[in-house]
Amino acid sequence: MTGFVDGLRDRLRRLFQRHGSVDLKPFRRIVATAGGDADAVAGWSDTRLTEAADGLRTAVREAVEQQEAGRAKGGKKRKGATHPEFTDAQASEFCAIGREAADRALGLRPFDVQLVGTLALLSGHVVEMSTGEGKTLAGALAAAGYALQGRRVHVLSVNDYLARRDAEWMAPACRLLGVTVGWVNEGSTPEERRAAYEADITYAAVSELGFDVLRDRLCTEADDVVVRAPDVVIVDEADSVLVDEAKVPLVLAGARGAGVADQEMTKVVRRLRLGRHYEVDQDERNVFLTDAGTAEVERALGGVDLYSEEHVGSTLTRVNIALHAHALLHRDVDYIVRDGRVQLINASRGRVALLQRWPDGLQAAVEAKEGLAVSESGDVLDEITVQALISRYPTLCGMTGTAMPAAEQLYEFYRASIAVIPPNEPCIRVDRPDQLFQTRQAKESAIVAEISARHAEGRPVLVGTQDVAESERLAALLAEAEVPCVVLNAKNDAEEAAIIADAGAHERVTVSTQMAGRGTDIKLGGRDGEGRDRIVELGGLCVVGTARHPSRRLDQQLRGRAGRQGDPGDSVFFASAEDDLIGQHAPEAAERLASDEDGRLTGRDAQQVFDHAQRVAEGVGLEIHRNTWRYTSLVSHQRGLVSERRDELLRTDLASQQAAERHPERHADLVEEIGEDAVEHAARLIALYHLDDRWADHLAYLADLRESIHLRSLARENPLDEFHRAAIPAFREILTEAADKAAETFETATITSDGVDLDAEGLRRPSATWTYLINDNPFGSEADRAMRGVRAMIGGSTTKSPRRKKQATD
Ligand code: ADP
Repeated sequence: MTGFVDGLRDRLRRLFQRHGSVDLKPFRRIVATAGGDADAVAGWSDTRLTEAADGLRTAVREAVEQQEAGRAKGGKKRKGATHPEFTDAQASEFCAIGREAADRALGLRPFDVQLVGTLALLSGHVVEMSTGEGKTLAGALAAAGYALQGRRVHVLSVNDYLARRDAEWMAPACRLLGVTVGWVNEGSTPEERRAAYEADITYAAVSELGFDVLRDRLCTEADDVVVRAPDVVIVDEADSVLVDEAKVPLVLAGARGAGVADQEMTKVVRRLRLGRHYEVDQDERNVFLTDAGTAEVERALGGVDLYSEEHVGSTLTRVNIALHAHALLHRDVDYIVRDGRVQLINASRGRVALLQRWPDGLQAAVEAKEGLAVSESGDVLDEITVQALISRYPTLCGMTGTAMPAAEQLYEFYRASIAVIPPNEPCIRVDRPDQLFQTRQAKESAIVAEISARHAEGRPVLVGTQDVAESERLAALLAEAEVPCVVLNAKNDAEEAAIIADAGAHERVTVSTQMAGRGTDIKLGGRDGEGRDRIVELGGLCVVGTARHPSRRLDQQLRGRAGRQGDPGDSVFFASAEDDLIGQHAPEAAERLASDEDGRLTGRDAQQVFDHAQRVAEGVGLEIHRNTWRYTSLVSHQRGLVSERRDELLRTDLASQQAAERHPERHADLVEEIGEDAVEHAARLIALYHLDDRWADHLAYLADLRESIHLRSLARENPLDEFHRAAIPAFREILTEAADKAAETFETATITSDGVDLDAEGLRRPSATWTYLINDNPFGSEADRAMRGVRAMIGGSTTKSPRRKKQATD
């Protein structure tokens, strides 16, 4: 009977769920049969458990070998790679021994729903499980399952702290299953990294993995490479990483000397006033000089014409960079100044990311604006976006509390479907209706009143703000109201985990910048859960949002912090017509809203305005993602081809062969003189140097190309076509040019038994390299440009475009 009810429920769920969610029935069936094995497995010794896991490993391997032999015999070559999988019986056995291993090694006995999640991960899905449902364990068991199938697994977390915590926490269970675990942190040495990547399962932050992949691109010895070929990736907080951060480029740069601050420009733009000299577009992504501003800058620079051939590429770019730093990047919102350095705040997570910096010009401009010493600048040697990094893996799966709202993107960009796993205990959290106000001030008074009231009851309150400045403003207001609070923001991220762990304690008020990706669980009663019963009686954790986010998904992430594992709790969002969301996405509608004497919005359509603005914001976000990907997928394809060639040069004698073809006599003489190996080594170094050099040049060319297309944006040409038209032929030259240059160097360079002296040839490899990630494209994405184009066409704009100026002077 329950089977029938379950079946009906599944069918109904499928009917009502949006497209993309997968049927859990097969997984449920497997987990149910695993229950039957549980008693037997419970009596086994640890050794027997490990042997059983090993038996699974062998069985899968033998099946694969048989399949391959069969295929070879049939002479058939199947298209596309197929991956080993468990049969249903093997999957069921795996669930039984996995559950037992977790119970023994961690004291956590996985719930059925966690095992269903594990199986969904093993089928390559993104799994939606609410906060507190135990995704870490479900993910670790999936990683172990893949490892037993003979695969190499990378588990990606959002930061170093979680990578290490999860690896150390889960390792004992994996060990019982005969599976090794490693982790990588920012401080890991190359040896530690290599060892970690050798393990069956490697935990790492997305950025750390990306930087390792980039650094590997510079190795000149095959043994120095640390990351092994991509195989399976399990992405934690999958929507944050795969959607919100997808377009973030990770960059490897090489030092050439200290950067130069544009003091002159910094001074010039400091005098400019918003509205008079420049305007900022609605969503604060672009800044434009007005005619008056252009005139002012031209005057300040001694009467130049900014839009003349001479200045349009150089001076105008410098003005734009300085103006961008001056007008769009706000201290404590976009960056903080700590230890005399500018540190970027990660927009989607409200935390400082180490090693992050903007592209050089902009970094130096912000440093100049803050009167700080300018850090070193360098050339971009290689770069890769998070999306391209993850798209390298033949198998992708992941887990998050909020997958369904990102279903469209996950399918469009990664072909991933979602498995929605029901909670172990039904969720009883109450999501209260939004509290809407006319002004920000009225909203903030109401927020303080709400927090004070809950605090007076003794309930813990978690407040999610939009940025660091807002957190501090709210903390000050709370102090006035004599409500003590703990502020968690980018300035004290070191204590982050501990603060969150205690956010469920009696009377505790925690104010935090965006909670997405702050992967720590909030237990009622505090981290030891001692005062739990009392908090449950009081009604559990109360979550307060100070504004609706630019997507429903982010709202849900915040709400999901309350009501974990069937706990009581509630959530409420406050919003005002002065919020950025409305200002940027529904400014006209806001004018129609009416309010009462408390500033509370009264009209029935007020809620619709906010919902509409959020949907527009989601649409803009998706469009930006799509457009960025259209550009970066071409670059990422080209990068793949160069990497392949590089790998061949690194691991084979290709370089030496090529040298022998071009200069047979020189090659033969050298072999006789210093031996085959030494020649091979020298030829390899030469070839790698030129390939890397050409690739860095190509990246610079592509950046310029985008910039120049950007400046010509009103020329009405399809910028993407234009980009492709130039980028594809430019790339075609690279491999041949690099080979030609290598041949030249092989002929002329001094090559002795000590190797080749590249420095003497002026072919110096970068002395120091560093890595960083860029949060957002500071020069505006294609979508911004398209929107700006539309605005300009409508005619509301007073900007002076190069095009207009050109027409005027023609
Ligand atoms: P999520 O990432 O899904 O929010 P975590 O993986 O951080 O959740 O786990 C949340 C909490 O639940 C942790 O404290 C963990 O110890 C606990 N937990 C996970 N699985 C189980 C289980 N099967 N039984 C009891 N507690 C569990």
